[in-house]
Amino acid sequence: MGGSELKYVQKAFESNYIAPLGEYVDRLEREVCAFSGSPAAAALCSGTAAIHLALRLSGVERGDRVVVSTFTFIASASPVLYMDAVPVFVDSDEKWNMDPELLEIAIRKEKPKAVIVAHIYGQPARIAEIARICESYDVTLIEDAAESMGALYDSVHTGSFGRFGIYSFNGNKIITAGGGGVLVGSDERDISRARHLATQAREDELWYEHAEMGYNYRMSNVAAAIGVGQMEVLRSRIERKRAIFESYRELLGDIEEISFMPEEERAVGNRWLSTLTFERSDPFEVMRRLDENGIESRPLWKPMHLQPLFSGAKVYGGGVSETLFARGLCLPSGTAMERADIERIAGIVRGALR
Ligand SMILES: *Cc1c(COP(=O)(O)O)cnc(C)c1O
Repeated sequence: MGGSELKYVQKAFESNYIAPLGEYVDRLEREVCAFSGSPAAAALCSGTAAIHLALRLSGVERGDRVVVSTFTFIASASPVLYMDAVPVFVDSDEKWNMDPELLEIAIRKEKPKAVIVAHIYGQPARIAEIARICESYDVTLIEDAAESMGALYDSVHTGSFGRFGIYSFNGNKIITAGGGGVLVGSDERDISRARHLATQAREDELWYEHAEMGYNYRMSNVAAAIGVGQMEVLRSRIERKRAIFESYRELLGDIEEISFMPEEERAVGNRWLSTLTFERSDPFEVMRRLDENGIESRPLWKPMHLQPLFSGAKVYGGGVSETLFARGLCLPSGTAMERADIERIAGIVRGALR
């Protein structure tokens, strides 16, 4: 936590508005808009819920195809199943995010209703090109910016290129509300409809009137109070995350077989996690060695097309993300780490190499 969160939570309690409405819900929506440059935002209970609503608002129906990055966390893809739609996966380019050329091939063949592109580990995909392709084929673009809050492409925030963008306030993200998500959109009408669907699609009557299926997806005022407090520290968190990445690069960059996650020239990522790949050494051996020293680390995302849940799903390409999974490692990246911690971790990694 940064400092103001408890004060805001206390104010939320004093106002006695704990429910999914109240001052902080409105304020978080305003602050996310002001920060990201998106015209409209709806505070929700999770980033996953935000993706689900984005698909619903995109008019996705049963059996429709939706193109999704394969190199991502499950929550980019599972909302496609909530809609009884069919996910089609697209591989990464050499900078780890969705390959625009493969995307165009997939769009031509599959005629999807929507595209969900993830900005992985806080590093922007080639989003200007992806947005242009989606526009030229008239496909709705949904940006999964759950990991990339504050990351820029051409000085524009990830999440604000598509008709929809989503941010996550889950506990593991760069800032958190304990749990939560925000749906941003280029059209205020979409977002007010999202708020309606997220409150059980209750019609504006004295009694409980429902004309369509909704969800219980709003964020509580208490969570929003934490989120508002966290917005104050987002910029400093990004600076810290980027400094942690630079420290690792300084300490391990001389090792020839190590490649750190690249950054697009036109992008400035938030470096949510410091990640790298090994040419020869086994990352699982490195993870074991770190674990012996009481240090938690993880492999890179296992691609969606390799998940048992999606066996049989179509994938365009696949080899790049498979190699990333086989060869990659997420290093500890918590902003509370000190230089000595990073040096110790780097020393263990170095000692575990072949
Ligand atoms: C965390 C995450 C989500 C989901 O966000 P929640 O708020 O946890 O539901 C979606 N996509 C990616 C890439 C994520 O990392």
